[in-house]
Amino acid sequence: MAVVKRGARLVILGKQGAGKGTQGERLCRHFNTQHLSTGQLFRDSAAVGVPAGLQAKEYMDRGELVPDEIVVDVVKERFSNPAEVQHGFVLDGFPRTANQAEQLDQILGDEHPLDLVIDLDVPTEKAIERLLGRGREDDTRESIRRRLELYESETKPLIDLYRGRGLLVQVDGIGDEDDVFKRLLDAIDAPGEIS
Ligand code: ADP
Repeated sequence: MAVVKRGARLVILGKQGAGKGTQGERLCRHFNTQHLSTGQLFRDSAAVGVPAGLQAKEYMDRGELVPDEIVVDVVKERFSNPAEVQHGFVLDGFPRTANQAEQLDQILGDEHPLDLVIDLDVPTEKAIERLLGRGREDDTRESIRRRLELYESETKPLIDLYRGRGLLVQVDGIGDEDDVFKRLLDAIDAPGEIS
């Protein structure tokens, strides 16, 4: 298994409320890479009135997935500069469907494949508790229910896909932020083992 170092290309999978955003940012600081959250990109671009962001917001407010074409375009644009790919990244919230995973492979090409995919795991009840506490605009009970349903049907299958490719590590996302981060670093150092 690849030794993950500076410039690593990582994906964080995990259901809503698993802590992908928080831990993703910490991993980026640690590995000196960029954090790319598709949800955050859409929120930022909707806030300044960018058409793709406004279009995405209609789906996000209902807890639906933004259509693949829109999401993939945003990621493609971000990675159109090869330096962005070479310097590494933590992708958070993408890919979220099997089609997005395929498109990501194409965007990265054979030269810069993913180094590791992390599944940050928390039980659903815990995730709901965290999301309701967070109170983001799209964190209504109905939207949360729908997003978790879509996580199960669309995103969870990616765990097996990446496991089959020998890229997956699973990390328990319960506990305080520092403990989870330590677990993540341990898992990254010793991929293949469940921590
Ligand atoms: P959460 O993980 O809590 O849903 P995110 O910020 O990751 O928060 O995503 C917020 C919303 O943005 C999602 O509910 C979805 O509508 C949209 N979104 C983000 N990433 C994607 C993606 N890869 N594919 C489709 N929709 C996405």
